[in-house]
Amino acid sequence: MIRLEGISKVYPNMDRPAVKELNLHIEEGEICILVGPSGCGKTTTLKIINRLIEPSSGKIYINGKDAMKEDPNELRQNIGYVIQQIGLFPHMTVYENIATVPRLRDWDEGRIRKRVDELLEMVELDPEENRYKYPMELSGGQRQRVGVARAMAIDPPIMLMDEPFGAVDPITRTQLQNEFLKLQRKIKKTIVFVTHDIDEAIKMGDKIAIMNQGELVQFDTPANILFNP
Ligand code: ADP
Ligand code: ADP
Repeated sequence: MIRLEGISKVYPNMDRPAVKELNLHIEEGEICILVGPSGCGKTTTLKIINRLIEPSSGKIYINGKDAMKEDPNELRQNIGYVIQQIGLFPHMTVYENIATVPRLRDWDEGRIRKRVDELLEMVELDPEENRYKYPMELSGGQRQRVGVARAMAIDPPIMLMDEPFGAVDPITRTQLQNEFLKLQRKIKKTIVFVTHDIDEAIKMGDKIAIMNQGELVQFDTPANILFNP
């Protein structure tokens, strides 16, 4: 589904590549976790996949097609993106936030309304209660749920999630993780999920890619990583 071949990224001001010769194969319907210390190249890798950053070298294939040859906007129709904290537009209601991408696609308002309610239910927020709230009226956990709902608005097969549960307290984080795993069993998206928390990686991942200083040091299932550290 997603294949990175020899991906490197050199930022002009750095003396080593932020990402170096990365090879990664992510299968359809699986959660692949990118884990490693701050600065090891996780976010850069994620942004290379949705072409917010161009790699210095290497190839990306999405669904067998060379992603570099596709129009980035077309490509992103298939990719939902969730980031922590600043993900929501603060001046827009929950409804307006979730409606942004469907509106760019010219969905009619009736269809958007139905979809917003459906999405809010999927992320376990009561539509009646939350539709017209602003982000600042929500708790951190509720905001992250809306972020997930917004990324799923047009039902993209791929989701990129950058520390999506990183900015909330530990109890809320556990709750969000459990809810998300339950949802994933139904929706079966292909997910690349960034975290610096190895416990989160082991809990959430079908596969775990451990990165250090831009390089992939291990790529395996959580069980194999636990028993062959
Ligand atoms: P992580 O997500 O694992 O914390 P990043 O991918 O954000 O790592 O960063 C990898 C390295 O690249 C870090 O050393 C970071 O300082 C550097 N870096 C990230 N973005 C930029 C940028 N836009 N310009 C220059 N250096 C950057
Ligand atoms: P531009 O950067 O050219 O102004 P936009 O940010 O408005 O483009 O987005 C163009 C299209 O790409 C939108 O239709 C939207 O669906 C999609 N898109 C943009 N950013 C993302 C993202 N982070 N995740 C998923 N889709 C995105």
